[in-house]
Amino acid sequence: MAKQEPTAGTTLWAASQEGFPTEKLTKNLRTDILVVGAGIAGSLVAEALSALGREVTVIDRHPPGAGSTSANTSLLLFEIDNPLVVLADKIGKEKASRVWKRSFKAMRNLTKKVKSLGIDCEYIERQSLLLPGKVLGPAGLRRECEARVALGFPSRIVERDHLLADFGIDRPNAILSGNSAESHPIKMALGILRKAADNGTKVFSPVEAKSIDANEKRAVVTTKHGHRITADFVVLCCGFDPPKFLQAKQHEVVSTWAAATKPQPQNLWPSRALIWEASDPYIYVRTTIDGRVVVGGEDEDHNDNERRAKRIPSKIKRFRSKLKLLMTRIAFENEDIDYAWSGAFGASETGLPTIGNVPGMPRVCAVLGFGGNGTTYAQVASEMIANALSGRAEPDIDLFAFGARN
Ligand SMILES: Cc1cc2nc3c(=O)[nH]c(=O)nc-3n(C[C@H](O)[C@H](O)[C@H](O)COP(=O)(O)OP(=O)(O)OC[C@H]3O[C@@H](n4cnc5c(N)ncnc54)[C@H](O)[C@@H]3O)c2cc1C
Repeated sequence: MAKQEPTAGTTLWAASQEGFPTEKLTKNLRTDILVVGAGIAGSLVAEALSALGREVTVIDRHPPGAGSTSANTSLLLFEIDNPLVVLADKIGKEKASRVWKRSFKAMRNLTKKVKSLGIDCEYIERQSLLLPGKVLGPAGLRRECEARVALGFPSRIVERDHLLADFGIDRPNAILSGNSAESHPIKMALGILRKAADNGTKVFSPVEAKSIDANEKRAVVTTKHGHRITADFVVLCCGFDPPKFLQAKQHEVVSTWAAATKPQPQNLWPSRALIWEASDPYIYVRTTIDGRVVVGGEDEDHNDNERRAKRIPSKIKRFRSKLKLLMTRIAFENEDIDYAWSGAFGASETGLPTIGNVPGMPRVCAVLGFGGNGTTYAQVASEMIANALSGRAEPDIDLFAFGARN
């Protein structure tokens, strides 16, 4: 298999990516909490724990924010990969409702956090528009919307005339929902990590965790260069390519593609809602603060970086032919496209992540396999871990635990 690298191509965010000041690890360390991985998950976990007054150390083998987070198109949705009615068929209605409620709450909390911490990351609250597709057709969307409304979510059906007038989209219906947002994913992750650093968190890079030895009292991580980091608790936020010592096989890797156009007229669709479809593979569309259109999706189940890179031109063609059927307002010829890239994320059959104690490793927990909604689940993980480590009640441990049907 080709070497696993986080991204291929040039992402839209790379040009405006600031570095993050890190320290070199030159000796053994003792810390209260060790977070392995400085993507959006590690950043949110470090911020949440350091805000509780815990002593937090973060290590990453790459610069912070260079994993999947660097490729993220940052549609921030409470609507997870599996529609509520589909997830209910897979894991039961009661659990599916709890998962959706949790992701709804996490989106609310993420928006609150970014605002209250004053993170400068182009974070804008948006509506989202879910179009019918192969997973849920127009009738399925109506059932989905009813199920959501029953849980109190701000979703409603919009009909063809509304879709045509407001979006230039000719589909029988769609679900329009609130409580979504867009952001610059790297500014967001690094901004949150900076807040953790303000709370005293130390960030070391490049430092690779090679092995872990955990007992009831502490966990000791040994790095590639032989340093030992002893912690009361270790949180593994290693993204789609977890270390070999994390034996539990819970997730597969999905490859995905994205492209961003040059700035386009600001009135393409005035609400600038985040648009996606209930299909597999799906495509999604958002705008940026400077009027670019970001298109993504077309996922494939493999983790081959060379294949990802080679397929960028053919995926652009697929996006183009889909956009021609969906939104002719978007200019998407080769000369209109400024950036095209691919990346990977972890995924599970149900689309749910694993968040919890690693079996057989006391004092070690992991957050794994975030699917296409990684940012929302990273927020969920940070809340759950903060609750668990501060002795607060955490009602959703069973939903995402290792061995749960995720
Ligand atoms: C093209 C693309 C588009 C996407 N679009 C969206 C979207 O619109 N909305 C959304 O919510 N999500 C989206 N995602 C998914 C999202 O990006 C991921 O789910 C999320 O970034 C995962 O964050 P993370 O912190 O878990 O992982 P990562 O960002 O991958 O971070 C993990 C970090 O752990 C480090 N690490 C791994 N192993 C070790 C080790 N042994 N020692 C030290 N460090 C280690 C890595 O170097 C890495 O920096 C998209 C992903 C891609 C690729």
